[in-house]
Amino acid sequence: MSEQESQEQLLHLLSGKWVTAAIAAAAELGIADQLAALPLTAAELATRCKADERALKRLLRVLCGEGLLELDENARYHLTELGRQLCDGELRTLARFVGAPFMWNPWPALAAQVQDPSRSAFERTHGSALFEYLDADRHAASLYHAAADEFTRRQARALCDAFDFSPLERIVDIGGGLGTVLTELTQRYPALRCVLYDRPPVIEQARRVLSAAPHVEPRIEVVAGDFFSGVPAPADAYLLKHVLHNWDDEHALRLLRACRAGLRADGYVLIVESLRLPGNVRDATALMDLEMLVLCGGGYERSKPEFRRLLGQAGLRLHATRVLVAGVRLMVATPRAHAASEA
Ligand code: SAH
Repeated sequence: MSEQESQEQLLHLLSGKWVTAAIAAAAELGIADQLAALPLTAAELATRCKADERALKRLLRVLCGEGLLELDENARYHLTELGRQLCDGELRTLARFVGAPFMWNPWPALAAQVQDPSRSAFERTHGSALFEYLDADRHAASLYHAAADEFTRRQARALCDAFDFSPLERIVDIGGGLGTVLTELTQRYPALRCVLYDRPPVIEQARRVLSAAPHVEPRIEVVAGDFFSGVPAPADAYLLKHVLHNWDDEHALRLLRACRAGLRADGYVLIVESLRLPGNVRDATALMDLEMLVLCGGGYERSKPEFRRLLGQAGLRLHATRVLVAGVRLMVATPRAHAASEA
């Protein structure tokens, strides 16, 4: 690559900030939903989005340039297939989450954290760790759980297909958020008794969500608490989905040991996480790993050998791994004594 091409490539990479911000703003304003029914002029769109027409036009120009919108000869904006992905649903929620100030603002502190990792960029910016911050800010918490949930819904269906829960009696979802996985499980496995365990403010929100689904609510016991002080026991299976990656090895080990202690002899610890791949390729898990650094400090995306070692220290063994959806795996761990074979 010539020097000029390298410079252009770097400038292109740096422009990612503006593109991300433009997409997040489009999601916030609901532009895609307005254009989904019919193409509109900038003036019509400005009225519907309560926006200033001239400023909106500048945003729309960038969205056209990035291939989300197209402008026709009658000055009407159309959604492209790419732009349609920003209609109400999982990617719009994700775009709003990525652009939300509480998530965006910590990133400039990344360099400082890399030099001194004793405090996460999130903590440097907001003065408290991620989950304490969410406990105190309802709006941020509901956006956080909505973003996590959109993906969790799809992963929950894949989890029910990937593992046979029918021999189990009692499953505890540790850090289970709003109960999305357990809701899916109760529908697929009517005999299963489920326990949702999370921080008190999250459980409060989960109670409201679950009470809106009356056929589900009585089947899910909700328990509020701090998982570093203990976990509900006993269980035939503990589910840890996107929880361990928030924590350093010391905390992850405490959690796994608590699960091991509460597990029935023939039980399972079910871990759902992305696996970090060897090498330095550009992959989504490496980017998520950086997100964990910025948000959680000690949390990181682990490789399979790293999981295996951690499980071993907790008296568990990796029994099998299965792909759920792109990049996300189910790891089935069992107490050391009864693991029949190793993955
Ligand atoms: N398992 C869910 C949520 C993952 S996000 C999913 O995959 O969608 C991590 C979860 O861990 C959050 O719901 C958070 O509230 C919970 N959590 C964090 N610290 C906790 C603690 N000390 N005790 C209990 N839950 C905790």
